[in-house]
Amino acid sequence: MTGVKICALRSGSSGNAIFVGSGSTKILIDAGVSLRDIEDALKSIGESASELTGVLVTHEHSDHGRSVGALMRRYQMPLYVNQGTYQALRYQLGKYPEHLVHIFDSNQPFTIGQEAMQATGFRTSHDAAESVAFKIETAQGAVSVCTDLGWPDPVLLDQLAGSRVIYVEANYDPTLLAAGPYPQMLKQRISGEFGHLSNDDSARAIAHFLSRGTERFVLSHLSKENNYPELAMSTVRDQLALQQARIGEHLQVSIARRFSVSTPIELS
Ligand SMILES: [Zn+2]
Ligand SMILES: [Zn+2]
Repeated sequence: MTGVKICALRSGSSGNAIFVGSGSTKILIDAGVSLRDIEDALKSIGESASELTGVLVTHEHSDHGRSVGALMRRYQMPLYVNQGTYQALRYQLGKYPEHLVHIFDSNQPFTIGQEAMQATGFRTSHDAAESVAFKIETAQGAVSVCTDLGWPDPVLLDQLAGSRVIYVEANYDPTLLAAGPYPQMLKQRISGEFGHLSNDDSARAIAHFLSRGTERFVLSHLSKENNYPELAMSTVRDQLALQQARIGEHLQVSIARRFSVSTPIELS
């Protein structure tokens, strides 16, 4: 394969793992589902966990870090993580070989693998130790993953701008969240500046990225209780239409699946 293959193996508040492969360099961004699910999902897209170059972790919440320790033990897989997330995550990892841990500095690019893949973890506003959104630069352009964002911070959006594909959080619908069963404290946490992006926030972020040249988006990390795919899509479509941006014409938008593997995206 000469191009870049990207695939959400799982996405949502139940667990996240995104595959990015460029030549022989293949990574996972987060490993927040069971090892078995990761292995099976990779197999279903013609990949293998044993061929991964490493796992990058956005932050320590279990829907992102659950199987990191298992991957390190089973496959001797290198872990790429910043200091804050590492300190918060290490007690969840179980036993692991320390030499596999590669600490990167937030907002500073680092290189992974033989065939240059350059990654940068840009700091995000979220209730975790040192959460980041990743921008992965490849020979075919950049791919970014920005989920678990408290708000669509314009500084962060500018840092990720120019990517060819962006996985953007569309976590909740404000009306469903307000009317739903969550306790008030949790509702405030989700919608606060250290929580998650609503569908409307997601549309605003997409409009910003679109104005800077990105035309392909995947709505990601949908809440199970406070959102559903059709609602996320229709909200984003309606918001963008107000700005004369039409899905299918000016940009492509799909939705990352929660409990199954999404269709891989290939860039050449
Ligand atoms: Zn989180
Ligand atoms: Zn999360």
